[in-house]
Amino acid sequence: MPNKAVKPHPEPNKKLTAKSMQKTLFLDRDGVINVNHGYVHKKEDFILIDGIVELIRHANQLGYLVIVVTNQSGIGRGLYTEQQFLDFNDWMLDSLLQQEARVDKVYYCPHHPSEALGNYAKNCECRKPKPGMALNAINDFGLDISAAIMVGDSASDVEFAVKANIPEIYWLSSQHEAFIINYHCATTVTKINNLREIHLN
Ligand SMILES: [Mg+2]
Ligand SMILES: [Zn+2]
Repeated sequence: MPNKAVKPHPEPNKKLTAKSMQKTLFLDRDGVINVNHGYVHKKEDFILIDGIVELIRHANQLGYLVIVVTNQSGIGRGLYTEQQFLDFNDWMLDSLLQQEARVDKVYYCPHHPSEALGNYAKNCECRKPKPGMALNAINDFGLDISAAIMVGDSASDVEFAVKANIPEIYWLSSQHEAFIINYHCATTVTKINNLREIHLN
C-alpha cells in the first residue's frame, strides 16, 4: 500500500522527460554538407565539406536527431526535377551512411516566389528564412526546439533558426569581415571557419 503512494502520475512525467531530452542538430545542405557550386544535383559535383562526416557521426553517438533543411529552388526553376533531387538525396544519404554518418530526415523547399515554374511558383512557408521546415520537424518528431542547434552558411539560415527559436546557431563562413546580429532574441550565433570548431554536448 505505501509504495503506490510514492509514484504519482508516472505516465505524463515519462513523456515529458522523453520529449525534453530529444536534442536535434539542424544542418543546411549546400555550403555545410557539400561545397556549394550552385544548384548541386549530380554526384560528380558533390564534394564533402571538411569535418561534416565527423560532426554528423558525433551527433549520432550523442543521441541527436540529425535533420537537413535545404532550399532547393533549382527544382522550381526547372534546373532539375524533384525526382532527380530525391535520387541524388538518396545517394548522398547512402554515401554518408557508408561513412557511419546518419542523417535522420531531409526537408527541402522546391519553391521560389518569383523565379519558379508552374505550381512551384509560390510564396510558400517552407523556404528559408521562413521557419516552416523546422516547424514541420517539430510536428513530425515532437522534438524540443530548446535543445536544438543549427549549422548554416548564409544569413537566411541564421534568420530561419532565429524565427524557429533554435537557441544555438553556428554560422560557417570563410569571410573575414565581421557581421553584426541585430536580432533581439536569446539566440546565440557563433561564427566559425571550420566545422571542427563545433563542440556538441
Ligand atoms: Mg547554404
Ligand atoms: Zn517552399
